[in-house]
Amino acid sequence: MESIISNESGKRLTSAFEFTPYFEHVERRSRTQTLIIQMVFFLAWLLSVHFSTSHEKNKPWHEAILISSVMGSMLMTYRAPNFKWRLLGRMLFEILIAQAIALLVTDSVYFTFWMISLCCVLMVGMAPLHHEPLSYSLCALLVCASLLLPQSNPISVTGEKAWMFYLLIFSFGMGLVLNMIYFLDRIRWFETHRRLQDLAYKDGLTGLKNRRAFIQALESRLNQPKCPQRHFFFLIDIDDFKRINDLQGHGAGDEVLRAVAQRIDELTHPCLNGRLGGEEFGVLVDGSRIRAEQMADEIVSSFTLRPLTGSGVTVSIGIAEHHPSMTLAQWMKAADEALYEVKRHAKNGYRFSI
Ligand code: GH3
Ligand code: MG
Ligand code: MG
Repeated sequence: MESIISNESGKRLTSAFEFTPYFEHVERRSRTQTLIIQMVFFLAWLLSVHFSTSHEKNKPWHEAILISSVMGSMLMTYRAPNFKWRLLGRMLFEILIAQAIALLVTDSVYFTFWMISLCCVLMVGMAPLHHEPLSYSLCALLVCASLLLPQSNPISVTGEKAWMFYLLIFSFGMGLVLNMIYFLDRIRWFETHRRLQDLAYKDGLTGLKNRRAFIQALESRLNQPKCPQRHFFFLIDIDDFKRINDLQGHGAGDEVLRAVAQRIDELTHPCLNGRLGGEEFGVLVDGSRIRAEQMADEIVSSFTLRPLTGSGVTVSIGIAEHHPSMTLAQWMKAADEALYEVKRHAKNGYRFSI
């Protein structure tokens, strides 16, 4: 979840690099579809083996090797750890199933015609198995080459070679069109999902994690197996923010919120941070108390040493350390109480809860 939020910022797919999250997403969503299509091919082949009268039936070890390698490639497509391996699994499956079916008709006097028909069926049938046209075209080419190159001589002597050629081109064209339709649909599907993720987990004004995303991430961090580090929750609040709104208007107030969010993000990176609501931000600092003090000091002094243009903004921070017996709500409340103390005294500072 966290990686989706950080990688996917609502932009359209513009560079090759951004295709990685697309692949990871569609692979996850279309896994079952892919398995069903592969099972249909696989069962069709098993039935053909059962009803076949070919000499291949007399070589059970040959069939056993083919069955296990086809099943292996299906397993690879379904379970491999990343999309590159899964793509390789899909390519292997297509080439293996093509070879397996081709073996059944080796005795036929119409072998060449069977090969062409098989190529056509596979080229159309494999269209939904690929998530973009390049890998589809490459696989269609590989399947055709593996089945038809050994047949180039018989094809060249038949009077119908032009028709065979048209049939192959037509099937490839049909497969490519189907693949493009799936591809465009899946891109739309992915972008909608990405937009919804942004709307649900990102703060629209500042671009930081919103309260929901921040608290979820905080919870999952706390639920991670024990780590020796201490956890400090920072509740950062802009001082006298209402006055900025009143004097300069809400538009200027929004600009200040964006600038403060950017500054906090810059200073606390790579710590977990987010906008909790209004003019309040949360940060999780892992490490020693000295590190937490240094970071708090850096944040507070940054707004006086490098003032945000035209606003004279300062911030106050309430800090609470997490103890194993504390719930999340108690932890956040402790930071809120510490913040209240800073506000009550002088503002523009930080305080640890006791
Ligand atoms: P203190 O120093 O005690 O924190 O005082 P304050 O004025 O910062 O705090 P207060 O809670 O009184 O005011 C917060 C204001 O923040 C009130 C609300 O109108 C404003 N606010 C909340 N969300 C937004 C927003 O998204 N944009 C703008 N411009 N203002 C917001
Ligand atoms: Mg406040
Ligand atoms: Mg405030």
